[in-house]
Amino acid sequence: MRHVTRYRTYPSHAVEQRLFTGFTRCTFVRNYCLENKTYRDSILPNLKDEHPELREVHSKVLQNVVQQIVHNLRALKKLKAKGRMVGKLRKKRVHSMIYEQSGFRLTGNQLWLSKIGEMRIELSRPIPGTIKQIVIKHNRTHKWFVSIISETPDTPELTPGTSWVGIDLNLENFSTDTDGVIFEHPHNVRKVAKRLRRAQWKLSKKVLGSRNRRKQRVRVARIHEQVENRRNDFLHKWSRYYVDRYDHIALEDLKIRPMVESLETKLCGRSKSILDAAWYKAKEFIRYKAANAGKYVYLIDPAYTTQDCFRCGYREKKDLSQRTHSCPICGYTVTRDLNAAQNILKKSICRVGHTRIYACGDQDRYTADLGGASPGP
Ligand SMILES: [Zn+2]
Repeated sequence: MRHVTRYRTYPSHAVEQRLFTGFTRCTFVRNYCLENKTYRDSILPNLKDEHPELREVHSKVLQNVVQQIVHNLRALKKLKAKGRMVGKLRKKRVHSMIYEQSGFRLTGNQLWLSKIGEMRIELSRPIPGTIKQIVIKHNRTHKWFVSIISETPDTPELTPGTSWVGIDLNLENFSTDTDGVIFEHPHNVRKVAKRLRRAQWKLSKKVLGSRNRRKQRVRVARIHEQVENRRNDFLHKWSRYYVDRYDHIALEDLKIRPMVESLETKLCGRSKSILDAAWYKAKEFIRYKAANAGKYVYLIDPAYTTQDCFRCGYREKKDLSQRTHSCPICGYTVTRDLNAAQNILKKSICRVGHTRIYACGDQDRYTADLGGASPGP
């Protein structure tokens, strides 16, 4: 099982300069490959003879630059096959270096990189398993990060537990689950919108290529970084909440892109909170955390989950403004989101093949009878 952990690192000025030089060399190799359309690392020895300064970089790092291009091209090809509009790989500055298998050593909180030197890393949490790869990266707000990719030998056993939950992701709140727990929107983007607008306006007033413009660009990047950090923080806590409490988690399999676009036009203004909500990330976080903990995640087709009545199945179209579900046939009345969450849970349980679900009073708690059999993944 693979793990990625990210740490802050603080290289000294001299080490920093060597890292920047390394980035320049990697950029050169990347652009050389794209220009000449050669994507094999067998060109590297010849290239090093022509440009001896490339020997200042650890050989594995340069090989990884080439491999990265191959990887990216493959990803683009896949997207193209799916019918997406894709451009070409562009020449760009490289801001990271990948060390694989060799050329690095971690002793205590000192990281040593070949041809670079030592630096202190902030080991905020332990590294699981053995280290396979180290990525050193410089970001737009001038911070240094080290991502450590490590591997542990075993994948956790799936636990056929008995606690189930269905989660509806929506616009009103961030999420509502079948136990009635509601997570409010953090509204991260909205909170900084004014500051961001002002910072961007200031940036537009600065003279191109000036020192002040460079400084202002960092300020803008810092606001973006703050939003990103807050969002990740919220999503980590949110996904941890569910993975710790439940064995089986059912979510909508939302097609994020089309939804944002169509709603954008319909509800102009609301799109910000949809994007802000970062549902895609939410799904991914829950998925990998569940995989690490050996729990089940079901991605459910969201069709009709808001329209159908959970109790009797009667289907009725609802407006987006209609916040409660009130069934004209059986009289089942709950909030719109709770009804949706219940339908999501029902769909997941049906898919697994266990149909004995029942409501307990007004609490609307559902228990699934697993009958000792372990459900399919
Ligand atoms: Zn009904």
